[in-house]
Amino acid sequence: MKQGLVHFATMKDGPFRRIIKRLALLRYTGDLWITRLVLKAQGEPRYRLTGACNGCGGCCETPVIQVSTPVFRLRSLRWLTLTWHRLVNGFEHTGEDRKLKLFIFRCTHYDPVTKQCDSYDSRPGMCRDYPRNLAYSALPEFLPECGYSAVYKKSEQLRLALLKANLPPEKYEELVRKLHLRE
Ligand code: SF4
Ligand code: SF4
Repeated sequence: MKQGLVHFATMKDGPFRRIIKRLALLRYTGDLWITRLVLKAQGEPRYRLTGACNGCGGCCETPVIQVSTPVFRLRSLRWLTLTWHRLVNGFEHTGEDRKLKLFIFRCTHYDPVTKQCDSYDSRPGMCRDYPRNLAYSALPEFLPECGYSAVYKKSEQLRLALLKANLPPEKYEELVRKLHLRE
């Protein structure tokens, strides 16, 4: 969803859809800005991202959106959300995770052969934000082929604490990897 795809944008979205998406993007950006401001006041994000997009397209293969319980459970809200994403963003609902309240989609703008987005200039806010959002998660998980990774901001202190705990070397290495304590 990052710069790896930008050079190949063909802007398949028509003018009307582009206007709707622009308005949706404004709302999304405003919400995100306020949310991140609040999180910053709470000391977030606890990770910083390293690396760069290699254009693997992995994040476009199955876009996933986490929704609130009412949106996931109430039929009307669920229908509205899924219809919006289908008509506006070109996201076709293909599955879900009931436990995590995730909607899983196939993006009709994504070409799996070329790994390119045909509407990059009008892509939704979530595509623009990925993988920055992972810096705010409790334990970031990247797709295996993604060129980004995360480093815990207080990794040095935590590594020292682990060293003092005299763990077996393999356990230490496992924790350093899982907790993103190394560049
Ligand atoms: S609109 Fe689809 S193809 Fe384009 S960046 Fe988003 S998920 Fe990827
Ligand atoms: S998964 Fe990572 S490297 Fe691949 S396209 Fe998405 S942001 Fe870029």
